[in-house]
Amino acid sequence: MPLNLVDQVILCEVGPRDGLQNEKHILSTEEKLELIEGAADAGFPVIEAGSFFSPKAVPQMADTDEVFRRLRPKAGVEYRALAGNLKGVERAAACGCKKLKLNVSASKAHNLANLNRTPAETAAGFQPCSQAARAAGMEVSGSISMAFGSPWDREIPLSDVREIVDAYLCVGIREISLSDTSGQANPAQVFQMCTEMAAAYPQVTWWLHFHNTRGLGIANILAGMQAGFARYDTSFAGVGGCPFVPGAAGNVSTEDVVHMCEESGVETGIDLDRAMELGRRLVRLVGHPANSYVLQAGKSKDLIRELPSK
Ligand code: ZN
Repeated sequence: MPLNLVDQVILCEVGPRDGLQNEKHILSTEEKLELIEGAADAGFPVIEAGSFFSPKAVPQMADTDEVFRRLRPKAGVEYRALAGNLKGVERAAACGCKKLKLNVSASKAHNLANLNRTPAETAAGFQPCSQAARAAGMEVSGSISMAFGSPWDREIPLSDVREIVDAYLCVGIREISLSDTSGQANPAQVFQMCTEMAAAYPQVTWWLHFHNTRGLGIANILAGMQAGFARYDTSFAGVGGCPFVPGAAGNVSTEDVVHMCEESGVETGIDLDRAMELGRRLVRLVGHPANSYVLQAGKSKDLIRELPSK
């Protein structure tokens, strides 16, 4: 029986935001633009280019406004950014950002650490933020971090996640990302949750966001693909790792995911060689080794070698 995967996936390169915001070394605006525009040229349809939080809280993203002002628009490419409050929405509108992502943690403890608010307070804040963003001509999506588990909660009940989905839908947000920030998801759980959520909310456009903390990122993506989910976040060279999460690792690496899709006959529209060049470039910029198998070992297709003669 064949694997029942989707034929095509839409990948969002989140390295410029989720990756870089957790790196000690802060990249220059020019270096960020090189990566973001490079990703667009490599075929990424969606790129998360930054976030509009306080520069004191996230100094790595302090120049997101400048990044958006200078970003060359490209047909068919969506540049999105994270915002957490009205101030962030105003900054986004002022620099020409067209797509915002709001976030709330399904874990009360994590949400307090990240946003200094309870999930309920954050949910109450969705309305003015999404209203202001739409009034400024921006599209709005939402994400739910710790959707699959949290280091601070014994479990995250599906009903908690559904409450947040309902809150997003109430304010007209239909594009929603389920995020495994702490890398606790497993493939069986992903398949079951995705199947249930897709059946419960046929109107939602789903994204999945996996951190590779326990090496399950690729397996979780495969499980999501089997459940019919087609949108995934990935990160060049697997950079990143949330500072609040114990032992955190970055997102599942872009090169590994594009390679798996290519080998499995799943269309991504992304040029793997160019993605690998960008991954290598990012490794040089951040100054530490990649968390990407394909960057280390090369592509399977490149392994055709002459056998040594005896
Ligand atoms: Zn993340």
